[in-house]
Amino acid sequence: MVSDYKLTHLSAGDLLREEVKERPDSELSKEIQEHMKNGTLVPVTVIVPLLKQKILTTDNSGFLVDGFPREAAQAEVFENEIKNPTHVLFLECADETMMSRLLKRAETSGRVDDNEETIRKRFEVFHNQSEPVVQRYAEMNLVSKIDGNKSVEEAYEQVKSAMDPIFQA
Ligand code: AMP
Repeated sequence: MVSDYKLTHLSAGDLLREEVKERPDSELSKEIQEHMKNGTLVPVTVIVPLLKQKILTTDNSGFLVDGFPREAAQAEVFENEIKNPTHVLFLECADETMMSRLLKRAETSGRVDDNEETIRKRFEVFHNQSEPVVQRYAEMNLVSKIDGNKSVEEAYEQVKSAMDPIFQA
């Protein structure tokens, strides 16, 4: 997507992990790590400033914001302080498919949250806190649903079908 649509990829989780790597002993990093380990969301006052800082210092007007917003408050603050999304891609996938993919990733990722207990908690957080955000954007007609159960290639074909009309507009 970055090369096809000339976007800058900003992953909320990567930004948090970068913050922890750069300042491992700070209070903020300890707070982030605690949330990651538990599979809960870091506060909106942590994630939005990190994203905002990146957006303001990056020389591109198109951003692929990945793993965000994950709760209603994040969407509200982002829209008030930065902008409304042009479009929303929702990669929908069955919990059990995600579980097996994540446990596979755990073999090499070294991530504190790639274990069965934390993954279950992350699913719960997703269904309770993040799904309502998708619903809100769907009511605004901004969402394209992608079948994330499919292979990378098949899912990307769906992504292109959703993105091409927007980028040709
Ligand atoms: P991810 O890298 O997207 O799998 O996210 C890993 C973890 O980082 C999540 O379980 C949360 O603890 C935290 N995280 C990532 N994105 C967000 C976000 N948008 N809001 C709050 N916490 C987040």
